[in-house]
Amino acid sequence: TRDQVHNFAAGPSPLPGSVLEEAAQGLLNYDDTGMGICELSHRGKEFKAVIEGAEADLRKLLSIPENYTILFSQGGGTGQFSAVVLNLLSAHRLKNPVPAQEFKPPVLDYVLTGSWSSKAYAEAQRLTLPPFPNCPAFAEPRIAASMKSEKWTRLPRKDEYSFSKDAAFVYYCENETINGIEFPHDPSNEAAFPFESVPEGVEIVADYSSSFISRPILNIEKHAIIYAGAQKNLGPSGVTVLIVRNDLLVDTTEASKLGCVPHTPITYEYKILADNKSLYNTPPTFPIYVSALVLKHLIKDKGGLEGLESTNKQKAELLYKTLEAAEKKGKARLVVRDENARSWMNVTFTIEGAAEEEKRFLDGAEKKGFKQLKGHRSVGGIRASIYNAVTLDSVKLLCEYINEFCT
Ligand code: PMP
Repeated sequence: TRDQVHNFAAGPSPLPGSVLEEAAQGLLNYDDTGMGICELSHRGKEFKAVIEGAEADLRKLLSIPENYTILFSQGGGTGQFSAVVLNLLSAHRLKNPVPAQEFKPPVLDYVLTGSWSSKAYAEAQRLTLPPFPNCPAFAEPRIAASMKSEKWTRLPRKDEYSFSKDAAFVYYCENETINGIEFPHDPSNEAAFPFESVPEGVEIVADYSSSFISRPILNIEKHAIIYAGAQKNLGPSGVTVLIVRNDLLVDTTEASKLGCVPHTPITYEYKILADNKSLYNTPPTFPIYVSALVLKHLIKDKGGLEGLESTNKQKAELLYKTLEAAEKKGKARLVVRDENARSWMNVTFTIEGAAEEEKRFLDGAEKKGFKQLKGHRSVGGIRASIYNAVTLDSVKLLCEYINEFCT
């Protein structure tokens, strides 16, 4: 049963049991309509209330300023690797409506702190390739800082960033799900994202997929776009939430007419999504419905983001303290060496000693009901993801097991 299992999956990840029970009911008979939520039109009054409720609750939960629009999109976090480039290059082009011959492709500054920001950078490189030989590229993706040579074990120091003055945007990933690296949100922390070093007028984009609604976002207004795939803290996979500053909702067709920008597929244009209240085409109604229930649950039962922040902090501190003790005994090793950069959501470590030890750890964990602890296939090791729906009790039990295993 669910009670016998502690699910530490990195995503899709556990959702609150009470929400899933309500969703199961809604799947069969939504609000006594005699029809399930997946059987109702996305343009009917029932679904309209669901999506509008989700939007209002998210705005309240995160205190999203009025000059930002919330969008529900498809294509996952990966879809946004592309959509961000297409929409922001279009916005940049519209601000610079010079004749094509005079247009200078802008720089796109990427901060590389792990696997996901690297994938986003690779997509920017792909999308901006010249449309035909002997023609300029659409943009110049550039690395503003990279921790690759240190195997993603820390965040850049302030003096390791180099931002371009005239970049169309700066891109970073707030929490690297695979590597377990997260920017601290205390601005006074030395590892905090250096908003102050980004040149004026350069837009800032953040991938919040795996830390979304785990704690307040203190500086939404410093961003042009914040986005997150739902499948960690918010709901099932299939929906991606965007927070976009209103002046960036631009007509990408108009930009295409000026030339020198890649064309934007219609479902990826933020303006189209905004003008149609995220219902330009059929949205993923079930993931949006479950996300709406999760948001209600967080507001009503979990004390909003302040309540979540304090529990999430406690969970992370307990687990890191336990692993530090195991590390001192030479039994385990934390992957992220800089304490300031350790993720509250994805705790990555290895089991030291003979190669079989890791398997023994995972087998023992499995027997106790600790599930999905295996690290990402690209890096190996162990990863305990402790998203909102993972309780402090589950983390305490995992810590007991680690203590036992690492004696
Ligand atoms: N960004 C981050 C931080 C992620 O964790 C993930 C997926 N785990 C993605 C992007 C890609 O999201 P998706 O699989 O929804 O395309």
